[in-house]
Amino acid sequence: MATNNDKPRIVVIGCGFGGLEATRALDGAQVDITLVDRTNHHLFQPLLYQVATAGLSAPAIAAPVRHLFRKQANVTSLLGDVVSIDAAARNVRLSDGNTLPYDHLIVAAGATHSYFGRDEWAVHAPGLKTLHDAFEIRRRILLAFEMAEKEGEPARRDECLTFVVIGGGPTGVEMAGTLAEIARHTLPGEFRHIDPAKARILLVEGSPRVLQAMPESLSASAQRQLEKLHVEVRTASLVTAIDEHGLEVTPPEGAPYRIGSRCIVWAAGVAASPLGRQLAQAVGAQVDRAGRVVVEPDLSVPGHPEISVIGDLAAAKSHAPGREPRPVPGVSPGAKQMGRCAAANIQRRIAGQPTKPFRYRDYGNLATIGRNSAVVDLATPAGPLRFSGWLAWVFWLFAHIYFLIGFRNRIVVLIDWASAYWSKQRYARVVTDIEPRQ
Ligand SMILES: Cc1cc2nc3c(=O)[nH]c(=O)nc-3n(C[C@H](O)[C@H](O)[C@H](O)COP(=O)(O)OP(=O)(O)OC[C@H]3O[C@@H](n4cnc5c(N)ncnc54)[C@H](O)[C@@H]3O)c2cc1C
Repeated sequence: MATNNDKPRIVVIGCGFGGLEATRALDGAQVDITLVDRTNHHLFQPLLYQVATAGLSAPAIAAPVRHLFRKQANVTSLLGDVVSIDAAARNVRLSDGNTLPYDHLIVAAGATHSYFGRDEWAVHAPGLKTLHDAFEIRRRILLAFEMAEKEGEPARRDECLTFVVIGGGPTGVEMAGTLAEIARHTLPGEFRHIDPAKARILLVEGSPRVLQAMPESLSASAQRQLEKLHVEVRTASLVTAIDEHGLEVTPPEGAPYRIGSRCIVWAAGVAASPLGRQLAQAVGAQVDRAGRVVVEPDLSVPGHPEISVIGDLAAAKSHAPGREPRPVPGVSPGAKQMGRCAAANIQRRIAGQPTKPFRYRDYGNLATIGRNSAVVDLATPAGPLRFSGWLAWVFWLFAHIYFLIGFRNRIVVLIDWASAYWSKQRYARVVTDIEPRQ
């Protein structure tokens, strides 16, 4: 593929939080950037569950990559699926056979679902990572109610009206809370043979508490808020089987039991993009258990200073002066900060200067449970600031609107949320494929 050879060529793989931020940080630099992504949009994953639960439409949380970089003259945006990286030849190969030569490479291909070796579960319990996943989950949720309305046999009807979310992290908590709201607030009055408010929502988590990354007090608050919404929270419970009619759960003591369900959502495991392992094999680098590439303090790959790995694909550590290096969590601020650091280090390398180690600034954690309920754990110079309930929910709401990409998206989301708050409706309830797929 033709490029301008006068300037250093930078290839950025992935336009998620890390790739987007790295590319933006190189605005105005005398470099030639090729930004390649297998989708044509940047996706704001923290609000993906809203698309999966019919609260927002896809364009409200996704922005076309080409449009985002229309004014940044040093960027060429390409739609392409990277299948391999040839570190010796310094090029990146796409699935269509094209190759992209580079002088500096930033790999920001993110993560995917992990079913802990039980990939056959994916068909029965889709995970939430892409817009495609969100559409599929939304389809299953809405069709489960439709199936229940037609089902005359009580046991099978109950199966249709039982929704299970596996994984009690932020995504699982958000999904379960919103499912409860759909059942209790959005759908009642619309069906003639079922009462949607009687739907069971279960949240199954393997560890002893939900929101493991948060302090215990906030986990307990989140669980209380979920239970107030009539979500049945089953902690310390391992999922040991999943099929098209439900799942088997094994508690720490006692016999495994079965839950019949036609709609199961997987929010339990994350693994690095397969590109990480391919790169690690090509350059002899290490990967951790989740398949993330172990990087140097400056985010480069050992022995290849011209390749940086960032975001969810990197097993990176934060190097704060005077402190032990600490692992960086797989969250969007981590990816964005790594993006800026990798871009700055590339510019230093080009200028013949030494690179700097990555330092992660942790501003805290947020998770919403549903209408008027959320938990917030902020890191402030005066120590942690923790709160939950309505105030936390308002904080969560404005934080997400602030960080959304694009002015129009912010306005659209604000209007949609305000209207949903007053009407209790979720308007994005269109499904086009009504055939059951399980
Ligand atoms: C449902 C969900 C909710 C979340 N909620 C929060 C939250 O509330 N707060 C928070 O801080 N974090 C949240 N996260 C985590 C956060 O989204 C990630 O940490 C962040 O997206 C990581 O950024 P990244 O750039 O590494 O990867 P991503 O943002 O995932 O971007 C990777 C990009 O690479 C592209 N790509 C992948 N493979 C290839 C390939 N082979 N060729 C070309 N392109 C490729 C993808 O299409 C994608 O655009 C959430 C994640 C999910 C899935």
